[in-house]
Amino acid sequence: MEFTKLQRERAVDGVYKELHQAIVSYRIKPGERLHVEELATMLGVSLTPIRGAIQQLATEGLVEVKPRSGTFVASLTAEDVEETFQIRCALECLAGEEAIGRIDEAGLRRLRDLLKSLKRPVRSEEDRRAHELDNSELHQIIIKAAGNRRLVEMYEALNAHIKIARVHSSERDWPARLREEQAEHEAIVAALEARDATRLRAALRKHLYRAKDALVAALRAREEQSPRP
Ligand SMILES: [Zn+2]
Repeated sequence: MEFTKLQRERAVDGVYKELHQAIVSYRIKPGERLHVEELATMLGVSLTPIRGAIQQLATEGLVEVKPRSGTFVASLTAEDVEETFQIRCALECLAGEEAIGRIDEAGLRRLRDLLKSLKRPVRSEEDRRAHELDNSELHQIIIKAAGNRRLVEMYEALNAHIKIARVHSSERDWPARLREEQAEHEAIVAALEARDATRLRAALRKHLYRAKDALVAALRAREEQSPRP
């Protein structure tokens, strides 16, 4: 029994990884329909792990299950990003205020290490993924340092970093913005180290609104290229 369960879980994980990657990298496009049977045949698994993986992707907002209509890759519009980042900024500034008095030496050390690895050039898909993981971790540290479980849950529900990855993976120019991003991350960490709430709030706002504007511009450009039906 134990063995059967383990096997099933592994199949779900495998399917999840495949689909997640395909959606994030736009191999399956927003709005495209997912056929459960077809996917099962292509991936050589039964329907159960496909359904499990789709459920997981739906909670992350990558897939939309419409009753009586089917399963589709969730759309990602400029408006989605605009709204997500407005809330993200509010939550992250709140977290920052709390984190000022709570972040410990280990947290600050990890932030400094991340600043270093975020300086590495981004030349390949792998570099991009590593960069996005580091970027996401840097922000997570601030969110978690606030010590507010509800805030963490709300932040995670925004899936901001998945949305960023979805835009970046099909946008060639984004590494051109790395220098700006680097300077902004450095300002954020410096403000935390100085335990200066006003500076931290300003640094977070500057970073998040600049990033939002860049993502929105990329999505608008794409929307103009291929107008939605
Ligand atoms: Zn960042």
